[in-house]
Amino acid sequence: MMMNGGGATEIENLRVGVDVGGTKIEAVLTDAAGAILASGRRTARKGGNEVVEDVAAIVRQVAGMRFGDVRSVGIGIPGLVHRDTGQVENVVNLGIEKLELGGRASGVLGLPVWVDNDVNAAALGAYGTLPERLRQGRMAFVNLGTGLAAGFVRAGLVERGDTGALGEIGHLPVDSNRVACKCGQRGCLETACSGGALRRMWPMADPPLPDILAKAAGGDAEAGRVLGILLHALADVVQIVAQGEDPSVIVIGGGVSRVGSPLLDALRGELRRRESSSGFIAGLRLTERLRLADPSIPIGALGASLIAC
Ligand SMILES: [Zn+2]
Repeated sequence: MMMNGGGATEIENLRVGVDVGGTKIEAVLTDAAGAILASGRRTARKGGNEVVEDVAAIVRQVAGMRFGDVRSVGIGIPGLVHRDTGQVENVVNLGIEKLELGGRASGVLGLPVWVDNDVNAAALGAYGTLPERLRQGRMAFVNLGTGLAAGFVRAGLVERGDTGALGEIGHLPVDSNRVACKCGQRGCLETACSGGALRRMWPMADPPLPDILAKAAGGDAEAGRVLGILLHALADVVQIVAQGEDPSVIVIGGGVSRVGSPLLDALRGELRRRESSSGFIAGLRLTERLRLADPSIPIGALGASLIAC
């Protein structure tokens, strides 16, 4: 699918942002102000050669007749990203151990290509959709996707920490007796609060969360138990982000968040329960900082276009 907008004839300095996911690749064509002029998506294929081909194809697709005005391309992708070289490692869902993604895509397209971690790109995209008044302080982005991670943006720039590990909250072990995590620890937040966790705990529906919310609202005890596990961990995530980094805005995004306001309402309910027994928590005004990412905007691809410079 491709939507063409804009219509100006003298646009220059266009950028393309590409969000490479485990199942789909999305891209946007943006102007110098970050407005989306066109967007597209295609199914992701496994393998390094396939990813390079698919990235190049979707860049040409969204740019269309304006390919000659594109000045740079940004790519967000899961895994370990070396931003200085454009190399990516361990993109498990795409069967990639090591890929010179930036260099190879640049060679095929004849354009500068920047590569960053997908959560950092999505955080930047989410920041770009905030109203101006909310862009004064810091923003945390919680990516509730197959896994769980956070990204932080301040004054339009992604905060990374000294080694790039800032935001890897999915592998904070909060309960040593709980489920084994693929990272080698036990009881990681990701084992309770992620799309993967929900599929494990609720395999009878895909996606699980709309079904869990509906059945829990109808009094189903098992759905209520699973929802309780999710909400407890998600409220922990909000507290960890708020008390560790103190951002004024916390945006919940990622595939699991697409269920929309029922999730936000349930999370606010859990936070209010904590506030009711703790003046300290009430003073943090956590519920006021929460927002959901707008599911109609491809924030991963938008953010990837913003990392291209
Ligand atoms: Zn873990």
